[in-house]
Formats: sequence, C-alpha cells, structure tokens
Amino acid sequence: MKASSDLQQHYSLLLGLIPPWAVVDVDLNMAGRRVEIEVQWPSGHQVECAECSRSCSIKDHREERRWRHLDTMQFQTIIKSRIPRSACPEHGVKTINVPWAGPNARFTLLFERLAIDVMIAAKSIKEAAKLLTSSRLAPIGARSAT
Ligand SMILES: [Zn+2]
Repeated sequence: MKASSDLQQHYSLLLGLIPPWAVVDVDLNMAGRRVEIEVQWPSGHQVECAECSRSCSIKDHREERRWRHLDTMQFQTIIKSRIPRSACPEHGVKTINVPWAGPNARFTLLFERLAIDVMIAAKSIKEAAKLLTSSRLAPIGARSAT
C-alpha cells in the first residue's frame, strides 16, 4: 500500500522532521506487519557538514540505510533513507547527521531511549535482553516477515 501525501505529511509531523527533511513514502506491509517510512533530503538544498556545521552542497547520497523505530500499533516500524554526503571545502566528503539517529546507529534515538528504559526497569540484563529481543521489540531482520 503506497501512501498519500496527507499520510506522508502525517508521518513527517509524527517524526518531528524539520524541512527540507520529508517523508516521501509510507509503505504498509500487512503480511509482514511492518511500516516502512522513507525519509528524504531533497536535492537542491544545502546540507550541513558533520564536522564544522558549514552549509555545503551535496556531493551525492549514500546507499539506503534502515533504522528500527518505535512500533506503530502492532506494526514494526522502520525508517529508511539515502543520506546525503556534504562536499565541505575544509573536511571533504562527509555523511551528514540525521535528526532521528546517531552516526552509524541501527536504531532511532527514540528506540534507544525505550531500550534504556527497559534495561532500567528490568530485574536483570538477561530479562531486559529477553524483552528487547521478543517479537514486539526485535531488531530489524530478527523476526520472520510471514
Ligand atoms: Zn566541514
């Protein structure tokens, strides 16, 4: 199921994206019980160097990356994006920072916050690990899509 622009805008607001970051597609996979939200930084907008915050032109976009986010109802929710790389005159080509996750993270900041809360509330690290790897909170790819 492909999303309408109203739904894309709805998800942009839910994620707290600041333009020009925008949701360009929301794919609801009923069989896989998964929502995939595609986020994009449109071409033609300057980006910020991750080293010095200087406004730079876009060199190119990286391959698509995916982040596990908090579930939408009972649906596993994934954010995916091809992150732009800046062309900084001082630092060269750098992948820009994204507002929803830290560099090289596989989970969004909100999902990481949930994981920390679970670890604090759990009686043991073993119990927290069990909760975080159960079907509802399993990381990307840890659960069958059937
Ligand atoms: Zn720089």
